[in-house]
Amino acid sequence: MFKKINTPQLINKTASTGARLFSTKMNKQSVKKVPMIINGEKRISQSKEWYEIHNPATNEVIAMVPQSTDAEMAEAVQNSKQAFGEWRDWSVSRRVRVLYKLRQMLEDNTQELAQMITEEQGKTLKDAEGDIFRGIEVVEHACNMSVLQMGDTTENIAKHIDIYSYKQPLGVTAGICPFNFPAMIPLWMFPMAVATGNTMVLKPSERDPTTGVRIVEMALEAGLPKGVVNVIHGKKQTVDFICDAPDIKAISFVGGNTAGEYIYARGTGNGKRVQANLGAKNHAVVLPDARKEDTINALCGAAFGAAGQRCMALTTAILVGEAKAWLPEIVAKAKTYKVNVGSDPTADVGPLISPQSKTRVESLIASAQKEGAKIDLDGRGVVVKGYETGNFVGPTIISGVKNVHTCYKEEIFGPVMLIMTAENLDEAIQIINSNPYGNGTAIFTRSGPAARKFQFEVDAGQIGINLPIPVPPPFFSFTGSRASIRGDLNFYGKGAVQFYTQTKTIMSNWREDESGMSFGTVMPTYKK
Ligand code: NAD
Repeated sequence: MFKKINTPQLINKTASTGARLFSTKMNKQSVKKVPMIINGEKRISQSKEWYEIHNPATNEVIAMVPQSTDAEMAEAVQNSKQAFGEWRDWSVSRRVRVLYKLRQMLEDNTQELAQMITEEQGKTLKDAEGDIFRGIEVVEHACNMSVLQMGDTTENIAKHIDIYSYKQPLGVTAGICPFNFPAMIPLWMFPMAVATGNTMVLKPSERDPTTGVRIVEMALEAGLPKGVVNVIHGKKQTVDFICDAPDIKAISFVGGNTAGEYIYARGTGNGKRVQANLGAKNHAVVLPDARKEDTINALCGAAFGAAGQRCMALTTAILVGEAKAWLPEIVAKAKTYKVNVGSDPTADVGPLISPQSKTRVESLIASAQKEGAKIDLDGRGVVVKGYETGNFVGPTIISGVKNVHTCYKEEIFGPVMLIMTAENLDEAIQIINSNPYGNGTAIFTRSGPAARKFQFEVDAGQIGINLPIPVPPPFFSFTGSRASIRGDLNFYGKGAVQFYTQTKTIMSNWREDESGMSFGTVMPTYKK
């Protein structure tokens, strides 16, 4: 229905003199500069500070992203504030009509977006398509806003008195994104924010910002008025600006704990709403009565898919009782995965985002060995032909892991599966509930009572029963627990409508007769 759109017009320009982070090897004439979007226009920053963006499969510089200047960021917020005045006057049906168009454009251009993600983030093309589709689902959910945003009414709470409430938008909101889902996470944020009548200033991850920019550009082409979503770039300076800007009323953040806890404290300290989805350590409990082949496939796919760079990756398997004997088959399955550049259609595991990330993952594997765990499959030193300079780590399995080991205490965010053991389900639940994180977990079993006990007793936000990666579709919310979340109102689902709106409650007293109520100094009650 909609025409295919060309790849983003990333403007070729000579780098500004004094740019801090240029590689000397880079051809400054040809490197692309990622634009901001302010007032509906792509704009090249005047900043002197630029960061390189690398293809994780080669480490070649493919673009540069600016640290937007304070003046540019202030302009973006001011512009979104101005746009709010008109946008909140649009009827909800008119607002979602824009999102219907965006939804179709995202679907029609999935291949183009997936290539962009694979080049900049590294994940395989098929997985990149999943990243986009999970975002499209949130747009679909936002298209239901005319119903979702309804308030409540009750007639006649006392004679002639009615009560009703509205969910009104907050004003300018902000989104701060991580690198691992360059399409899905921006789409978790701005469609729900704008469908509820807000405007948003979006900061994509500085490591892979191109997809976010492209998606906002599509939203503008779909009919979103100028300024309703603006895009700025940068690192901590941008985050601090967002946390402090008086006109920004709410911040949606997804990322790691260091940044998230900081943003939560600084943002709420400034009186803003903050919803923050943070890091994870997700356990899978394997009972000996589980379907063996399905379970092993689920464990390996969820541990090594996206090279383990998912907040819902199943990073730790707890083998219970006789299931301990399944380890060799888990290792055998992991060995079948092909590590390769994400654009190769046969690739199962792509590269990590950066050389620093690769070094960190490899050093966590080394620490496990040093601290007494056993490496059953070692993905260090994997070389991909033709991509020798890429950030590849192959599937790695470490057994004999204890809760004191560094590899267990830290979120690895790489293709590493830790194996723990437990004598029974109670012990497995105790391990999970003692871990500070509570993002997701799963149990594999044929026993209904065991699954029921697990879902009742385990303290994690999202639970899979014979299902890995139980990320809910957007008519439910994404619900982390404990250290995996800050703030009370969840992303998408009904939670996001609450997050992006202020409830206003009205009580009215319309009567034809003159009898009236007797208003006095006593607290009004509605007994009759
Ligand atoms: P990150 O925390 O490094 O970066 C996220 C954002 O915060 C970026 O936009 C970045 O510019 C900013 N940032 C980074 N460090 C900062 C600092 N010190 N001060 C202020 N701002 C800072 O996260 P990442 O590496 O991009 O993403 C991976 C993390 O995100 C993992 O921990 C993963 O579990 C988490 N994640 C969680 C969910 C979830 O829903 N729970 C989903 C996806 C990713």
